[in-house]
Amino acid sequence: MVTAARSMDELGINQGTSGNVSARAGDGFLITPTALPYAETEPADLVFVGPDGTARGSRRPSSEWRFHRDIYAARPDDGAVVHTHAVYATTLACLRMPIPRFHYMVAVAGGDDIRCAPYATYGTQELSDYAIAALADRKACLLANHGMIACGADLDAALALAVEVEMLARQYWQVLQVGKPKLLTRKQMAEVLEKFNDYRSD
Ligand SMILES: [Zn+2]
Repeated sequence: MVTAARSMDELGINQGTSGNVSARAGDGFLITPTALPYAETEPADLVFVGPDGTARGSRRPSSEWRFHRDIYAARPDDGAVVHTHAVYATTLACLRMPIPRFHYMVAVAGGDDIRCAPYATYGTQELSDYAIAALADRKACLLANHGMIACGADLDAALALAVEVEMLARQYWQVLQVGKPKLLTRKQMAEVLEKFNDYRSD
């Protein structure tokens, strides 16, 4: 987890101490602590949070632990969650713009768009509720005026998806500088989703 958290800096998807990473552990999950730069984070700094929200560790959990907890509770297939304020994803999130089906790789997040959850104060149950709704049938979402969430079966998958979402956000942002993108049809996206599903089940 510490390696994954540190790699967020190298991958260019993290801003200061704002992101966080978690992985399912037993009936709860391990999450990066609040207000500690990843370069200084050691495995002993990770905090265990139980299903009732009780934290165990020498540090306090990231203030965003609620949506991590609720993702694990609601989504049995997810084993890891990455949350970042990556620049391009956050740019679109501040415009409260979902990422539409402008490129077939949008399907990597599980559907034909990447939704943007409504705004709520960071760390609140309200934000978590909005995030869970925006993630329905998806593996990633934007959070209005905040950042993004990417989920996966494990840390590698969640991290790779976060990188992909940031790239899609960057491409979409760039497309908007030139004009209005020609969107793929739902049928075209359904074909891509089917291919992705076949690939995953191989
Ligand atoms: Zn955040």
